[in-house]
Amino acid sequence: RISYVNGRYVAHRNASVHIEDRGYQFADGVYEVCEIARGFIVDMTRHLDRLDRSLSELSIDWPMHRSALIVVLREVVRRNRVRNGLVYLQVTRGVAPRDHPFPAGTRPSLVVTAKKIDPEALRHKAEAGVNVITVPENRWDRVDIKTVGLLPNVLAKQKAKESGAYEAWFVDPDGAVKEGASTNAWIVTNEGILVTRPADHGILRGITRATLFNVAARLGLRIEERAFTVEEALSAREAFLSSATTLATPIVAIDGHPVANGHPGSVALSLRQAFFEIAEKSPA
Ligand code: PLP
Repeated sequence: RISYVNGRYVAHRNASVHIEDRGYQFADGVYEVCEIARGFIVDMTRHLDRLDRSLSELSIDWPMHRSALIVVLREVVRRNRVRNGLVYLQVTRGVAPRDHPFPAGTRPSLVVTAKKIDPEALRHKAEAGVNVITVPENRWDRVDIKTVGLLPNVLAKQKAKESGAYEAWFVDPDGAVKEGASTNAWIVTNEGILVTRPADHGILRGITRATLFNVAARLGLRIEERAFTVEEALSAREAFLSSATTLATPIVAIDGHPVANGHPGSVALSLRQAFFEIAEKSPA
């Protein structure tokens, strides 16, 4: 495997950054994960637009011109011969002696990695459906910024894993579902309406979520952006999650209780099926 680190393509096992990188010391950085499908980078424009927003919210400079970054993304995908998988990019404020305020004159660090994922394994997971658990929301109030500060997400995901679930939903004290540790949350009401929480500061503006709005429009499905509770999800026709890795994946149980009849929902699976036709495909 080959990865990109601050201007160099290096063997993945030797790819490293300095111990005083602020990403390492302060989680002072942001990231993106794009799906690679059939040799295309999916929704690259939206991912780079979100990167731009994350960087500007934290006053971190772009590590290079956008068009140069696209060249690096393609090069890492090409050098690793990834036709299906993910490309990961991370930008931190850079390397400086440890001190909380922004250092002067530091250049942002850029790391890009790519890995293959078997699309069949993901398809099987989606066709079987996944379990989720719920955990109290304990993250900060700007989770719309895609920072590498993911400790609550790590702990929630570990708890899910220990419970035999794939994902953990963060739930507000009033019972409203925010999103998963690495996915957005959706239900399909008994009237067939898609419901997902508005993209305010309380959830990540998922790129897959945004593209699913386009897919739903194409399929003639209505979407309501509003909060929903765990109880509502349990009595809904379907529940599902979305991310660049999972696309739309049905949820069959929440905290051990079946969603509807406990079978993967057909609306989620048809959204998944139509996804690649609608999403932007940039040659990798
Ligand atoms: N919510 C959180 C907290 C995430 O970390 C992610 C992706 O990593 C998502 C939602 C889904 O976003 P996307 O569709 O852009 O992958």
